[in-house]
Amino acid sequence: MSQDTELIVIGGGLQGLSTAFWAARAGLRVTVVEKSMPGRHASGFSAGGVRTLGRALPEIPLALAALDLWYDLPTLLDDDGGFVPSAQVRIAENDADMRSLRERVAVTDALGWTHEVLLDEAEVKTLLPAVAPHVVGGLVCRRDGFADPMRTTRAFLRAATRAGAVVRVGAGVAGLERVQGGWRVTLEDGSHLGAPRIVNAAGAWGRRIARMVGDDFPLGFNALMMMFTAPLPPFITQVALATGRPLSFKQVASGHVMIGGGPKGVADLDTGLTTLDVTRLAASARTALELFPVLKDVAILHAWAGIEAIMPDEIPVIGRSSRAEGIVHLCGFSGHGFALSPLTGRIAADLVLGRESPYPIEAFSPDRFVPGVDTDRPSGTMLQPAG
Ligand SMILES: Cc1cc2nc3c(=O)[nH]c(=O)nc-3n(C[C@H](O)[C@H](O)[C@H](O)COP(=O)(O)OP(=O)(O)OC[C@H]3O[C@@H](n4cnc5c(N)ncnc54)[C@H](O)[C@@H]3O)c2cc1C
Repeated sequence: MSQDTELIVIGGGLQGLSTAFWAARAGLRVTVVEKSMPGRHASGFSAGGVRTLGRALPEIPLALAALDLWYDLPTLLDDDGGFVPSAQVRIAENDADMRSLRERVAVTDALGWTHEVLLDEAEVKTLLPAVAPHVVGGLVCRRDGFADPMRTTRAFLRAATRAGAVVRVGAGVAGLERVQGGWRVTLEDGSHLGAPRIVNAAGAWGRRIARMVGDDFPLGFNALMMMFTAPLPPFITQVALATGRPLSFKQVASGHVMIGGGPKGVADLDTGLTTLDVTRLAASARTALELFPVLKDVAILHAWAGIEAIMPDEIPVIGRSSRAEGIVHLCGFSGHGFALSPLTGRIAADLVLGRESPYPIEAFSPDRFVPGVDTDRPSGTMLQPAG
């Protein structure tokens, strides 16, 4: 089959667009095929937290390197993605929380990572003057921050296009077939595209794409929900997270507060639609109110959910297929792939170019689970907060 391009990236979320950017910059002819619109799913509906705080240990080197790229985004993309270097703080509400934060720092310090710093009660209350009186301490990453999800997605889209990538919208992949010299992609309209290399960046649909090439991993999915309040006078600049319960929380420049970090609605992979669970949203709002009493009486203006891929171990799938030549998987970001995206796209581009990743990625192997385990259903638990 004739090769239309040198790399086809499936999925026009941040992971796919970042891959396209880095691969096109390295000189490959790249086509992104996006079923809907860039940023239509997790990437556009994210909370935008840029967090090195509390990362799963295998993710720490990637999160730290990605954070450096966030600071360099204006040079790389000609747009900062709305990145605000605000710090992220995990709040301890009781002795058990504080113990778990101390244990965490003991582990990270022993491994030589010093970016997570313990705060005692006085320090956390100085840093977060609006925090509730019962708070006893915290853990801070001072270089962390947050960004604007749709702006970042568009910035990668524009930069990838400037570098020569072609982005096709409304181009859903219906099938993948191994042919001489590469892969034949069948789109939902029946047309075909050919390329020697494919990156599977289909987010929550990543397992469906993997199965098309004979791979499988237990990628589930969830509808992660967010709330957005009426504006309040400024009371916090940092992103705040709870320790013993799910919460991620920030106030943006307009004064509105974004509340997320874990509550889940219902997602339908076939339609791509989500349904909010108002009871769970209310529980999340109560947690936010207990930690920040200043939220009393503020109205929730709107709420939304985005469909996110969740792996059982809540770390992504990043790696070459061991069975299907030319295939790289980049999905399963489990609620925290926004922060990693500037770097993980670069790693995927390196892999398709035949280079080795400069960062350790063995823990993210597509083969780390026993084949056939059925988790193609909403995942119930999530240890790391979304964000
Ligand atoms: C509410 C919410 C809050 C979050 N908060 C944070 C946060 O604060 N910090 C953080 O780091 N992360 C956060 N995340 C997670 C982060 O947004 C995701 O990990 C990241 O955006 C995943 O990017 P992606 O490109 O893999 O997936 P997506 O953005 O979902 O992109 C996948 C794309 O693939 C396309 N696609 C699917 N099937 C096909 C097909 N057959 N053919 C062609 N295209 C296809 C889809 O249409 C979609 O556009 C949050 C997520 C949500 C939902």
